[in-house]
Amino acid sequence: MNNDLILLGHGSGGRLSHQLLDELIIPIVSGIPSAGQNDAALLDNFPGRIAYTTDSFVVDPIFFPGGTIGSLAVHGTVNDLAMMGARPVWLSVGLIIEEGFSKADLRTILEDMRSAADTAGVAIVTGDTKVVPRGKADKLFITTSGVGAVEHTLQIHGANAQPGDVIIINGTIGDHGIAVMVGREGLQVSTEITSDSASLNGLVAALIAEVGTALHVLRDPTRGGVATTIKEIAQQSGVSITLQEAALPVKPAVLGVCSILGLDPLFVANEGKLLAFVSPTAADAALATLRRHSLGINAAVIGTVGTGPAGRVQMETVIGGMRSVDMLSGEQLPRIC
Ligand code: MG
Repeated sequence: MNNDLILLGHGSGGRLSHQLLDELIIPIVSGIPSAGQNDAALLDNFPGRIAYTTDSFVVDPIFFPGGTIGSLAVHGTVNDLAMMGARPVWLSVGLIIEEGFSKADLRTILEDMRSAADTAGVAIVTGDTKVVPRGKADKLFITTSGVGAVEHTLQIHGANAQPGDVIIINGTIGDHGIAVMVGREGLQVSTEITSDSASLNGLVAALIAEVGTALHVLRDPTRGGVATTIKEIAQQSGVSITLQEAALPVKPAVLGVCSILGLDPLFVANEGKLLAFVSPTAADAALATLRRHSLGINAAVIGTVGTGPAGRVQMETVIGGMRSVDMLSGEQLPRIC
């Protein structure tokens, strides 16, 4: 029998399950000793508001240029907490494994999760593992939930964009979606395209420390890309937004693949990008703060909030025209996160 494969019995709750948890999963992702393992994690309470979020990851392929489903599952949940101005503290991890999956691959993915969690300063404190029969899931699905501490009284949310606000992004758009597509389809590209998947909580902490109350909205433009996220915020805040096409940072290689596949990078997913809406007086300071950080060296101002019709998003094109920007309709790139 191939000792590397995950068997249905590894999800039985019995001896094999205990072996998998005690020999592989728990030592890698959390390190909680067996005496400390119970039905739920007991967490120290902290004063003030708590941010709480959850996300499921079904990315295909599970290993892609610049990341794995494991690092992505940590980054995605850490970033959703960070976008509320929270300090991410605890994560839970749910694993759904297809029978016959390789233990060696599982180990690599778990190590990637742990490394991403350590980098972000979060602890994986609880989780669950299930195994389903061959063909009933595709290799591995991961659900991560996260809890973060909101240690300030700032109002950072999607309904807080204000006319005059300057919109800043911390770098190039479309890298994640295109990297996954290249990995999945085995596309030959001359320049390597890697996912931007990364935890943004350090960047957010620096931004909050620098501009404080001038920071009105943070959101990560994941599925649906920058266009969809900007449209959501315009609607949620009841404001109009104008983007500048010429200001959008896009890597030439990403633009190249987009044009071959007929995709607009404005709608392609990112996993290490944030959009920050800040008062005009704080825009220079916010931009400088982002650019000082390794995840923000290509930060750019890409648009402004106006007083036009609520929910309207327009883009000034490179040739000086105006075009309407809407949310992504349908599914452009399935299973990119
Ligand atoms: Mg988000």
